[in-house]
Amino acid sequence: MSESVRPPEVDRVAASRKAVAARRARASLKRDLSTRVVTPQEVLRRATADAQSAAGTLRVPEFLTALPAIGEGKRDRILAELQISPVKRLGGLGSRQRDALSAWLERRSPDPRPRPGRSSLIVLAGPTAVGKGTVAAYIRDNHPDVLLSISATTRAPREGEIDGRHYFFVDDAEFDRMIADGDLLEWATVHGTHRYGTPRGPIDRALAQGRSVLLEIDMQGAFQVRESEPRATLVFLLPPSWDELVNRLVGRGTESEEERTRRLRTARTELAAQGEFDFRIVNEDVAEAAEQVVDLMQASAR
Ligand code: 5GP
Repeated sequence: MSESVRPPEVDRVAASRKAVAARRARASLKRDLSTRVVTPQEVLRRATADAQSAAGTLRVPEFLTALPAIGEGKRDRILAELQISPVKRLGGLGSRQRDALSAWLERRSPDPRPRPGRSSLIVLAGPTAVGKGTVAAYIRDNHPDVLLSISATTRAPREGEIDGRHYFFVDDAEFDRMIADGDLLEWATVHGTHRYGTPRGPIDRALAQGRSVLLEIDMQGAFQVRESEPRATLVFLLPPSWDELVNRLVGRGTESEEERTRRLRTARTELAAQGEFDFRIVNEDVAEAAEQVVDLMQASAR
């Protein structure tokens, strides 16, 4: 290349930094695929929405081998069956190839579909530190028409927490009484320590008045609500990536190293169960994620 057409040094440094960042983002995405933090369908959607994104620039063979239980032999057979060249990137697929890949993914592991005929009882769950509390608080502050259920808990209030606003702080005897009297829609022991439960009365009253109700609870609770209220819609809040989840947990600095390790282990199991939820929302931006939850409420209200 002659001197006159070579890009200036600063541009070349910036370009190589950008390439390194893009490679890292693709590596992180592949890790998230193999550990089921994201579904392959979600990655294909991201690639279709933005061909320059980490998903869009991921080569199809790498995408396939990042999926659990797909080795090189299987990968090559799938590529041949779908008539996709190994040099193709996910964002560069033609519509026919994309449809073929999407149909193949659905046959292998179906993406959950919303079931019709739900009330506007929405349960928001997700792994530790994903920002469920922040999203729920945003909805409480910006959509006063929605009832954010206030849970009862046996844990002590943290600084700044108000009884009757953040939780109903009760002792073990009172919690036992609530269970015995059937006052709780669901309850669970969370993180192996304290009990948390959803009082049934305020929810029944709000639904009877046609109001939407939001529960921000853990996954055991979410599945109990589905059992007792089959009309409930279960929403799973996802981090943009596993690395981001770790950053958020470390960043908030409220847990010890040991507690963080324990919560991250639980988070892996929880992320693996995301397919059992009706909807998944990525919490990239709190306001955006909260508005998506509110949209779902309006869409599922009858
Ligand atoms: P924290 O102690 O940090 O406020 O909450 C710990 C966990 O308890 C969170 O994951 C939260 O979702 C969960 N949680 C809060 N309220 C309830 C509830 O009423 N039922 C269940 N099952 N989990 C709850």
